[in-house]
Amino acid sequence: MNTKQELFSLTVDIEKIRSDFPILSRKVHNKPLVYFDNAATTQKPQVVIDALINYYTNMNSNVHRGVHYLSQEATSAFEEVRVKIGKFINAKHTHEIIYTRGCTESINLVAGSWGRANLKEGDEILISALEHHSNIVPWQMVCGEMGAKLTVCPILENGALDMTALDELMTARTKLLAITHISNALGTINPVKEITQKAHAKGILVLIDGAQALSHMKVDVQDIGCDFYTFSAHKVYGPMGIGGLYGKEEILNAMPPYQGGGEMIKSVTFEKTTYNELPFKFEAGTPNVGDAIAFGVALDYISNLGLDWIAAREYELLQYATERLNSDPLIKIIGDAPEKASLISFIIDKIHPYDAGTIIDQFGIAVRTGSHCTQPLMDSLGIPGTIRASFAFYNTKEEIDRLMEAIAKVEELFL
Ligand code: PMP
Repeated sequence: MNTKQELFSLTVDIEKIRSDFPILSRKVHNKPLVYFDNAATTQKPQVVIDALINYYTNMNSNVHRGVHYLSQEATSAFEEVRVKIGKFINAKHTHEIIYTRGCTESINLVAGSWGRANLKEGDEILISALEHHSNIVPWQMVCGEMGAKLTVCPILENGALDMTALDELMTARTKLLAITHISNALGTINPVKEITQKAHAKGILVLIDGAQALSHMKVDVQDIGCDFYTFSAHKVYGPMGIGGLYGKEEILNAMPPYQGGGEMIKSVTFEKTTYNELPFKFEAGTPNVGDAIAFGVALDYISNLGLDWIAAREYELLQYATERLNSDPLIKIIGDAPEKASLISFIIDKIHPYDAGTIIDQFGIAVRTGSHCTQPLMDSLGIPGTIRASFAFYNTKEEIDRLMEAIAKVEELFL
């Protein structure tokens, strides 16, 4: 941290930051809401909500189509956010940012477009055991279609990636490695730069699923060196239904369109269509303009807080929660990789996560229970699921204390 951020972390008024998020002051089951489901989706600050209202109140019109004032205004605002996203993740070119509905659609775009154009029988796509269903199923589908094979890198007992196995699984048949930056189930942060270097040394393309990363750490796609990086705005304090795909220019240029329709064309006759250039080639149809504009406001909001400060605050919450949970002998934390984001998965001895979650909810505390869209990971760990508490900078140690009180009640009721 630099001096400015150190000063900020000392003087920051967390209650003031919390008041930016209206939902945090509501009650659930007559108790103040404790929101620990930030890995599923983050809450939205008032400025983001206001941006949506402002868009539909004052600016709504279709983009890239009209010569009229509103259309041009909306187009500028929409395209300015593309520039902002590019800078936020340090893309080399703005046109390397493709708007999508989010991570899931971004991965499907790459699997559908790049996969169909490049995979053949005997090729392999390598993923890891940590992956979310959205970074498994699209690959399974395209592998099935093309006669390629999906291979899976295992993890170590602590939830870290097995780097030795990864090396061995990257073979001459491997065409692409698709791996998460941060595991949504265990919190493991993968060494994506090192992994990308290893893959590239063997001529393998790399897609990184950044769903969980953008809100927690500075992401620099040029420094990582990856070929594709995917993200969802709703995990970064922005709206649902908007997100993006970063792809290297030369790779995106070589890929065929993913969907056909308006916007992605240069010219159309009944005989032949010529496609638009990047990024529009991959953006068929009317895009989600209002949500994109609000996403830009969310990125400004967290940039103003400072990603270093956010990372430091979340680390503090993670440490505190880990200590508190570890002090209960009935609790087992699942996943303690050395590099971990502010997310804890745990199980309580002899109590099903669903039962625990139901009681915890009665305390007004939102935790996620279940397999977290990582069924193969849960199967390999031999558990039906976990209770997951995932923290954002607006959470507090007092809220973690309230979770511990709720867990004590769960144990009293079930044991
Ligand atoms: N990957 C990971 C690691 C995730 O956590 C999620 C969301 N839970 C996704 C992909 C899918 O993101 P979305 O549902 O926003 O498309």
